[in-house]
Amino acid sequence: MAQSGATDHVAPWDRQTHVAALRSADVDVLVVGGGASGAGVALDALSRGLTVALVDRQDFMAGTSSRSTKLIHGGVRYLEQAVKSFDVGKYQLVKEALAERKRMLNMAPHLAWPLTLITPVKGWLGIPYYYVGLWLYERLSGSERLGKAGIESKSSIQRACPTLKLDQLKGGVSYMDGQFDDARFGVSMVRSAIEQGAHALNYTSVDELIKDDHGRVCGAHCTDHIGGEALTINARVVVNCTGPWTDHLRHMADPDAESLMSVSSGIHVAFDKDMLPEGHGILVPETDDGRVLFILPWLGKTIVGTTDQQAELTDDPVATDEEIDYIIKHVNEWLDESLSREEISATYSGLRPLVKQPGAESTSQLSRDHVILNENGLMTLTGGKWTTWRRMAEDLMDQLVAANPELQAGACGTHDLRLPGADGDKQAAEAAIKGLPDDIAAHLWEAYGDRAHVVLKQGTTDRLVANLPYIQAELNWAVSYEGACLIDDILYRRMRVGMLDEAGTNALRSEAEAALKAA
Ligand SMILES: Cc1cc2nc3c(=O)[nH]c(=O)nc-3n(C[C@H](O)[C@H](O)[C@H](O)COP(=O)(O)OP(=O)(O)OC[C@H]3O[C@@H](n4cnc5c(N)ncnc54)[C@H](O)[C@@H]3O)c2cc1C
Repeated sequence: MAQSGATDHVAPWDRQTHVAALRSADVDVLVVGGGASGAGVALDALSRGLTVALVDRQDFMAGTSSRSTKLIHGGVRYLEQAVKSFDVGKYQLVKEALAERKRMLNMAPHLAWPLTLITPVKGWLGIPYYYVGLWLYERLSGSERLGKAGIESKSSIQRACPTLKLDQLKGGVSYMDGQFDDARFGVSMVRSAIEQGAHALNYTSVDELIKDDHGRVCGAHCTDHIGGEALTINARVVVNCTGPWTDHLRHMADPDAESLMSVSSGIHVAFDKDMLPEGHGILVPETDDGRVLFILPWLGKTIVGTTDQQAELTDDPVATDEEIDYIIKHVNEWLDESLSREEISATYSGLRPLVKQPGAESTSQLSRDHVILNENGLMTLTGGKWTTWRRMAEDLMDQLVAANPELQAGACGTHDLRLPGADGDKQAAEAAIKGLPDDIAAHLWEAYGDRAHVVLKQGTTDRLVANLPYIQAELNWAVSYEGACLIDDILYRRMRVGMLDEAGTNALRSEAEAALKAA
């Protein structure tokens, strides 16, 4: 697999070059949708030597992929279901996801890291129950294991989360999973694809699919909503990675296609207060209505989530009062010091692409939690989870290559991929951030890894807003090197302040606006 280039020479992300290349293009694979699935398919196709175009109607990662719980996990819940129902398929799924968990941590250690999670337990029997389950979860990871499951005393739980109601607990069980910066990880995947030769455009919608004389999908008419241009992209195969919008694209190809998708919303609530001084997360094992809740440290704040509510499909889902109340009510049942609405620093909502049972004639893989379809040349990849993007893309591309032998594609080469920021000059980056205020240095490393020194060359280290670690150089970097077109691209998916801190976001808005005007 081509690596992203261990050098100071990082080429700008020049939108006009990509527009020019895609104005009238001919590629092997056109990927529609620049979330985790689409960026993953683009990387996989490139690793097999194919030419790739990737378009998204919104910003890259603006869909579900920037709105997750930020866990890289095998799914403890899945394992519980697998054991209870003797379901070998589900067990296999957890095992595969745990292997992918380790790969993601290796791919970009600055954007993905191990996290200790503690499950507080109310009944004595719960302790052996959760311990055995979490021990099995660790064992399933084999050599990819991140740490050992352990039994936690009430005092260690109190140290991890001093506001938990201790008197109702018997103890707890700890285990390890991964955590990541979902949007930055995804933008880095797109950046990596570009560095490997893909053409990628955000704010470019597929409006109509092109079909050949046999009715087979062979490209798309698109609109670049920034420049207002019409683009025609011819492709040997078009891949539908539109997440919650999967049916829209399928219906462009065939208005009579059976609808597959429904969506449910999941929200998260961010709090300024430091509830987790040791940096461990809490997995609340059961709410009244049988769900799990996470209380997680993330980029200096605490996030609590999530919900699961039938929802309408929309580009910009927002947390409703009802959903916020749900989170506060259920988390407070576990806390001595109740959280209040006034302490919320931000909320965000994401839509789960849920897949109904597809028709019997489809090529879907029901043993997995993702679904692959091949309908008249339009291949669809949907469902699954962030953690398994690489495996999902590999599965899709294996089927795509088998169905299109004329492409003469090689084997998948993403197993040992390293993303930008994890393949460069670590020493140069460390030297460049040395001497900066601690919070700025830590932020630069966590966001840009071993490209931090290149980011610093784009401007000054002046803080954009007092008390926040974001600096002026980052604005130029986001616009010129990370494909940001609009203010929210910077605030929500390059800097992440939008997901966490509404007041900080408002304070930064005018600075981001100025950077975009100057670009
Ligand atoms: C609340 C919540 C929490 C989650 N937490 C986790 C977690 O902790 N760990 C985990 O592993 N997974 C998690 N997931 C699941 C994970 O986030 C999703 O599986 C994943 O992000 C889906 O990615 P996607 O690329 O399929 O879809 P999306 O990210 O939604 O991408 C689809 C893209 O297609 C684009 N698009 C749509 N129509 C068009 C068109 N006509 N032309 C061009 N572009 C188009 C959209 O703009 C969008 O950007 C969570 C999901 C939710 C909802």
